[in-house]
Amino acid sequence: MDWLDILKECSQKMRKEILTFYGSPDAAIGFGIGAGGDTMKKIDLVAEKALIDVLDEHKVSCTLISEETGTRKIGPQPSEFYVTTDPVDGTTNAVRGIPFMATAIAVSKAPYLKDVETALVSDIFHNVTYTAQRDQGAFRNGEKIQPSQTSSLEEAVVGVDFNTLRLGELVAKLEEVLIRTRHLRHFGANALEVCYVADGAIDAFIDIRGKLRVTDVAASYLIILEAGGIMVTPEGNQLDVPLAATQRVAFIAAANKRIYENIKKFLA
Ligand SMILES: [Mg+2]
Repeated sequence: MDWLDILKECSQKMRKEILTFYGSPDAAIGFGIGAGGDTMKKIDLVAEKALIDVLDEHKVSCTLISEETGTRKIGPQPSEFYVTTDPVDGTTNAVRGIPFMATAIAVSKAPYLKDVETALVSDIFHNVTYTAQRDQGAFRNGEKIQPSQTSSLEEAVVGVDFNTLRLGELVAKLEEVLIRTRHLRHFGANALEVCYVADGAIDAFIDIRGKLRVTDVAASYLIILEAGGIMVTPEGNQLDVPLAATQRVAFIAAANKRIYENIKKFLA
């Protein structure tokens, strides 16, 4: 079974549904709290349904682990594969009409991040697709990608997720990194921002809040590692967590070891 072909088909169907609601007031109609703890919005649910429809068409057996409706067993042998997804990463952007949101899908044979073997992140608005398969490199629209060589924060473009109620605490930890960094960014879809590190658009992405769900970055994790980049815990350990809608992660994604060390050195 060629999972990559199936994921590409899924993401194209999902993209079509998402763009139907992009920037429209209907996109934000709420359907209660999802498995990941956020309100499920119309735009999230139409994307997830498109994914499930394509999986059904291909008669795949898998356990779907989704940020929206949680864990769902599909087909006669659901523990053969695990499909982890955030159908819409950057829902706020999608609802508001800000052109930066992604679909992320990861496939593994066991429900752990380190076991992801096939990954796809699709930039919905720009129709750019990042893919990776274990030991086969990472690609952007089919072209091999690699991270930047930038090592100094003084020259770097660094993404940081600041969305937390405990902003004071976060800024205190990051202050020495922030004052040294040439350009700071946050675009609002972490799955895609990690892919931006993978292809050299930015040099690092930091999310040490501990509130990001693993469903958001399961696919990006394989993509950045296969591209040759780094994605580890703030302490520098392997991100080894179960794939579950409620599982949270804190991480630093970096283009290379030198810029990672520079970030770590100045982290309080
Ligand atoms: Mg989402």
